Amino acid sequence: MIVVMKQRSSEDDLKRVVDLAKSFDFETNISKGAEKTIVGIIGDNVYERREAFEALNCVEEVIPVLRPFKLVSKEFHPEKTVIEVGRENIGEKFQFIAGPCSVESKDQMEREAEFLSNLGIKFLRGGAFKPRTSPYAFQGLGIEGLKILKEIGERYDMQIVSEMMSPEDLPLFEEYVNVIQVGTRNMQNYRLLEQLGHSTKPVMLKRGFMSTVEEWLLAGEYLYYHGNSQIILCERGIRTFEKYTRNTLDISAVPLVKILSHLPIIVDLSHATGRRDLIPSLARAVVAVGADGVMIEVHENPERALSDGQQSLNFEEFASTYDTSMDLVKMMEEI
Ligand code: PEP
Ligand code: MN
Repeated sequence: MIVVMKQRSSEDDLKRVVDLAKSFDFETNISKGAEKTIVGIIGDNVYERREAFEALNCVEEVIPVLRPFKLVSKEFHPEKTVIEVGRENIGEKFQFIAGPCSVESKDQMEREAEFLSNLGIKFLRGGAFKPRTSPYAFQGLGIEGLKILKEIGERYDMQIVSEMMSPEDLPLFEEYVNVIQVGTRNMQNYRLLEQLGHSTKPVMLKRGFMSTVEEWLLAGEYLYYHGNSQIILCERGIRTFEKYTRNTLDISAVPLVKILSHLPIIVDLSHATGRRDLIPSLARAVVAVGADGVMIEVHENPERALSDGQQSLNFEEFASTYDTSMDLVKMMEEI
């Protein structure tokens, strides 16, 4: 349940609410907005104790949260969350995250970063530890890949996004990347989520390809509950009966998440369908539906990419998708 504090309540008042919650063995999570301070009360049968909270003078309102997720819900944090990443952010203006599926070499990343940063892109993606379906497929450069990403990111003033697969890799990712990605296969790896809850870095949480929106938000709840509120959701397509595409892009997830949650949401257009020919038109759809950004795999020579070339744009295709999407972003801002 959610306790909304009265507008001029003090730190002592807040402590009163927290102490009361503790006396019932409930956990608390405080969110201080510009207008209101809200305390999330978490525990078994919390709503049965609502009257004790309502009796406090400093409490304006006690709201039950009937949804299974609380901390990521709109009720808990009515204002939209903006995730700060270095001097950039996700949630305020439409952002592009671009780069190859996998880091293949320093030279390749250098050419990618030069091209993308010249266009004005501030987020560079690249996998160093790759979750491949086949053990025979390219598994990524590992630590070497992370080192390349960090060096190139610093040189081109770009924020690095890369996937972490194992909880024990957290110290490495803390050192080398700016946003830690949780891949679709790991969305329900609760040990990983718990570990990332202790991280100081923002987490980009991809939707499991077989997961409902509720399960996805509950995975976000894990991160928040364990201490990390810097969460960017990423819709990346779900598995359906359709065979012409690798996954089906659930475009409705964007406005739905915006109703249910305060977290920013972006869309990964490469994994969403697995087809590069669909990316330009879907990029426009994603802008129109109100997402906070897109992620697109870009490769200087997709035919020779070590992974996911079929869903990567070449530089020319990316530049044109970027231009038309940004035109639409500007039009939308004027509406
Ligand atoms: C990726 O972004 O490199 C990736 C493997 O994505 P997903 O987890 O969505 O398949
Ligand atoms: Mn990929």
